[in-house]
Amino acid sequence: MRLIVLLVVLASVFLLLRRFRGSGASLGSRQCPHCGQQIPALGMYCPICGQRVV
Ligand SMILES: [Zn+2]
Repeated sequence: MRLIVLLVVLASVFLLLRRFRGSGASLGSRQCPHCGQQIPALGMYCPICGQRVV
């Protein structure tokens, strides 16, 4: 089912663009338990301190 994959990719890009444009949006972001910075909900490692956040 390529269509589903395409839709998922498009949705991910859309959410990423939305997060970049709308600063301070709580959607798709969370707080790192190690350094306390707001980090993307996607991904397993904090881009600020590099610690693993699960
Ligand atoms: Zn961190």
